[in-house]
Amino acid sequence: MKERLPKKTFAALKNTLENGEDLDPNVAEVVANAMKDWAIERGATHYSHWFQPMTGITAEKHDSFINPTPDGKIIMEFSGKELIKGEPDASSFPSGGLRATFEARGYTAWDCTSPAFLREDAAGVTLCIPTAFCSYTGEALDMKTPLLRSMEAISTQAVRVLKLFGHNEVSRVSTSVGPEQEYFIVDKAKYLKRDDLIFTGRTLFGSMPPKGQELDDHYFGSIKERIAAYMKELNIELWKLGVTAKTQHNEVAPAQHELAPIYATANIATDHNQLVMETMKKVANRQGLTCLLHEKPFAGVNGSGKHNNWSMVTNTGKNLLDPGKTPHENIQFLLFLAAVLKAVDVHADLLRVSAANPGNDHRLGANEAPPAIISVFLGSQLEDVISQLIETGEAKSSKEGGKMNIGVQTLPQFAKDATDRNRTSPFAFTGNKFEFRMVASSMSIGPANTILNTIVADVLSEMCDMLEKASNFDIAVHDLIKKTFTDHQRIIFNGNGYSDEWVEEAAKRGLPNIKSMVEAIPAYVTDKAVKIFEKHGVFSAVELHSRAEIQYEAYAKAINIEAKTMISMVSVKYIPSVINYTKKLADSINAVKSAVADADVSVQTSLLKEASSLLAKAQAALKALQEANDKANAIVEVAEAAKFFREVVVPAMGDLRTPIDILEEIVEKELWPVPTYGDLLFEV
Ligand code: ADP
Ligand code: MG
Repeated sequence: MKERLPKKTFAALKNTLENGEDLDPNVAEVVANAMKDWAIERGATHYSHWFQPMTGITAEKHDSFINPTPDGKIIMEFSGKELIKGEPDASSFPSGGLRATFEARGYTAWDCTSPAFLREDAAGVTLCIPTAFCSYTGEALDMKTPLLRSMEAISTQAVRVLKLFGHNEVSRVSTSVGPEQEYFIVDKAKYLKRDDLIFTGRTLFGSMPPKGQELDDHYFGSIKERIAAYMKELNIELWKLGVTAKTQHNEVAPAQHELAPIYATANIATDHNQLVMETMKKVANRQGLTCLLHEKPFAGVNGSGKHNNWSMVTNTGKNLLDPGKTPHENIQFLLFLAAVLKAVDVHADLLRVSAANPGNDHRLGANEAPPAIISVFLGSQLEDVISQLIETGEAKSSKEGGKMNIGVQTLPQFAKDATDRNRTSPFAFTGNKFEFRMVASSMSIGPANTILNTIVADVLSEMCDMLEKASNFDIAVHDLIKKTFTDHQRIIFNGNGYSDEWVEEAAKRGLPNIKSMVEAIPAYVTDKAVKIFEKHGVFSAVELHSRAEIQYEAYAKAINIEAKTMISMVSVKYIPSVINYTKKLADSINAVKSAVADADVSVQTSLLKEASSLLAKAQAALKALQEANDKANAIVEVAEAAKFFREVVVPAMGDLRTPIDILEEIVEKELWPVPTYGDLLFEV
């Protein structure tokens, strides 16, 4: 931009980007022209307003730059108006009752804070412009609008706090986010043989192979050639898009991997994470592989999530969550820390729903990381500071990490961190940022950060209301920090979050344990939620109700598709294969007996009996699932339908899976109609 824009335009745009000043239409005109020239030089023929409707994936509509001239020729044009505003038909995107299909108008609006990028694919090169998406009446229909609103909210409140500490030089605070993305890679040819993977993103059947993840030999293991080649191309494609892919490694489960970018402003990080997910799929496809982003592609092995690393940074470059060497003396840090703790404690239900999707139901609250109970890990250093404060009203010291001595002369000595890590915590302080680890691997990180920003903004605003009136700031802030830590210490937990003892202990502390998406959704529309979202201008009550509605609908649709896929796979694949197998056994019994009348056919007979009995069980479970699913589909009210899917259809799916998985271990492999877990997880 600096290279291509006139100095004045560049300065004006920077002012909008950095200080949130209104955008001048004349500036947009000049920027549009420069963008077009840049894009065309790189082969672009089209531009697209790129947005994030409530489907959780991105949407785009392409327009070419060509415009006819009066003399019958064409010129390549792109106006400021076209940059700023688009008008996609909004009627086919989820709106949660915000609008009827006949009210089709929707608008996309240029988000100049997120860089435009060029996308290259079979369609050619397209200039993609990140935009917000709203209805004709101004309600947000996307993930970006509320996120941007929440960023304003937290900035306003954090700046207020900083003023109290005398930092008048700070005019904006932004939230930085670095999402670590987990994913699975399987062979595409095998993937294409599994309807469940194709239609639902996860395996609906499958028994565990003899080897799973118990040896822990995959985690950080050396990367296979085929995966290494994939990671290489993925990085290159992401760098081309301006996404700073930084680290990559193998994850816990076989065939599972992770990618993390360098952190960016919440808004850009959210856009980039969508690009990461899209590019992961695209590059895999090119290389005869398939990338699975589902939270639980395989039962019995670890699922995938996203670790949302989050911090607050001033426009003068200070990280407000940096404790420094002596956190006990850093009152400003302690106040922000206290605010985050309180926000997480008071609004745990909102954080929980920000991580809720049908896939994450298999992780959160099941026997896997992280638990559905939200708690905060602070580490020994901060926990010590806080207990000093709570117990004596004064924090006098901070534990130090000291030097690391490995006991070998030739190995370097280095400074140790003051605190160990805790992998089981859903919300962990990691040095100078919080890591929210519940987020679903396939979901946008937009909702999680929108909620995180808003709940922290709300606590900061309450704190400011109080502190701004105090006659003695030093005493007031000291008392406030002590009171906040004391009132909310129940949320701090440094132990093993996967253990049963923690579930009991958390119940004693009164922490919510919300097990499923359907149970999590009401958090969007409690009085408490409506109050804070309206107060900070992030969501209106109407928008919140529409989001809840969309979530119920999304859940019901996902389970319906899974149930129908199971029914179809059992009817046309598994049952016919098992029938083949039983016929083979019966033929063998008859053949052996006719050859040698008194031969022992007990093996074939017992296998035949067992397979036939499981076949009958599968058939009965199939009928039951079909009935349950029909009933669920007949329910009109969305919340009620979602509840029925969760409580009746999901268990019926489990009942159908059981006999099929047992059969998989009995039936001759050649006759089994789909690739097994062993084939998918170990043969990439
Ligand atoms: P780990 O989780 O192992 O500590 P990293 O330190 O690499 O790994 O951090 C993981 C992610 O957190 C990366 O995306 C990184 O860019 C991001 N990150 C690092 N510092 C911050 C910060 N201050 N605010 C937000 N994200 C951060
Ligand atoms: Mg991490």
